[in-house]
Amino acid sequence: MRVSVFGLGYVGCVSAACLAGMGHQVVGVDVNRVKVDLVNDGRAPVVEERIGELVAEAVAAGSLRATGDVREAIRDSEVSLICVGTPSEPNGSLCTTYLERVTEEIGAALAERGGRHTVVFRSTMLPGTCLNLLVPILEKYVGGTAGVDVGVAVNPEFLREGTSVKDFFDPPKTVIGELDAASGDVVAALYEGLPGEVFRVPVATAEAIKYADNAFHGLKIGFANELGAVCRALGVDSHQVMDVFLADRKLNISPAYLRPGFAFGGSCLPKDLRSLVHAAQRADVSVPILSHVLPSNADHLQRAVELVERTGRRRVGLFGLSFKPGTDDLRESPLVELAERLFGKGYDLRIHDANVSLSRLLGANREYIENRLPHLAQLLADTVEEVVEHAEVILVGTGDPAVLEQLPHGDGTVIVDLVRLPDAEARRTEPGYVGLAW
Ligand code: NAD
Repeated sequence: MRVSVFGLGYVGCVSAACLAGMGHQVVGVDVNRVKVDLVNDGRAPVVEERIGELVAEAVAAGSLRATGDVREAIRDSEVSLICVGTPSEPNGSLCTTYLERVTEEIGAALAERGGRHTVVFRSTMLPGTCLNLLVPILEKYVGGTAGVDVGVAVNPEFLREGTSVKDFFDPPKTVIGELDAASGDVVAALYEGLPGEVFRVPVATAEAIKYADNAFHGLKIGFANELGAVCRALGVDSHQVMDVFLADRKLNISPAYLRPGFAFGGSCLPKDLRSLVHAAQRADVSVPILSHVLPSNADHLQRAVELVERTGRRRVGLFGLSFKPGTDDLRESPLVELAERLFGKGYDLRIHDANVSLSRLLGANREYIENRLPHLAQLLADTVEEVVEHAEVILVGTGDPAVLEQLPHGDGTVIVDLVRLPDAEARRTEPGYVGLAW
């Protein structure tokens, strides 16, 4: 199929490269010139396992290219996937500005082009957004009826950053919210051959399923971390507790997100919980459990700050800055928040994250770092050694093997383990080891 993908961020870039890898003819569209140029050079604008080679191969094979020109992309494609961002507004509500703008642009291009085209929304959006906000925009521009003159579907994305390519080719499920059967057929054809169950549901149901997923993931992490904190205070190994808890398959508990570790973050879980709670409050629905997941997460982050304070040392090294290993994504990273708290308290901090350094070198996240994190940019070290040499206390927020290999052992450096290191069991008895997840 000929596909255009709007937004070449984490979701769009992976979708575009993987669809091209499946044999589709893909054009990516982004307002960000740097991302368009990177893709056309055969380089990925995000750091993710395997994404670099997939983009390089697809561009070399002529099945993937990028442009800033919406009309040209729409003219050359029969289906568009919308993967633009839907961040939080300051009051926690969902920002739909990018969705509205891209829908207007696509509508205007479709009005010129004529012929049937299917618009598929992959961005996360609250139930009702597609039918009440975006469909009227499309209908106004196209001058026809959605589901008849223009296809519309909602196809939420369930990838996890860090393993997103793997998740694309082996999805936990495929959810197709269809306005009409023909639109749903187009989406189903796009993913033909991928494993996993396909659920064809009404548009608003598809929108809601994504919130069910992300709210539950946040809840699980909060549950595991609170349990971990109580176990730690009572001198119990929380991971041993969870090993047995999770072995109880009769209750069918997936182990994902249930290992005590550090706080969660990223561009999805916090903002999706925030907008869900905001929507519930606006609808006068009381949601005490959901509204306490983020405060629970904030308390957990505070525990890490307190562990550092208790060491009484001032020269701190932090390994890991992106919101989780395997990605360069810094948005709402709990490690960024931790670094800012320590920096604000006057600690002498050095930070190393190989993916963030790589992305900065490529230019992909350079603007984000310069605009949003200039105070941390000066603390970034490109090598592990630099941080090890500097630090009296090392905070380990990543399982990156290159970091683990070079962590000091028994030389007086305090190791604050946020992730439960693979050798935590052995280290635990050593003086100077402090584990958040015990
Ligand atoms: P992102 O910020 O990484 O990427 C969005 C891209 O859209 C940016 O490159 C931006 O320049 C581009 N864009 C904005 N307006 C545009 C326009 N008019 N035309 C073309 N491009 C435009 O965002 P993301 O992390 O990929 O997330 C995208 C959506 O997918 C969000 O709704 C998010 O909630 C959802 N989602 C994200 C993930 C994830 O792991 N990141 C997982 C599942 C779902």
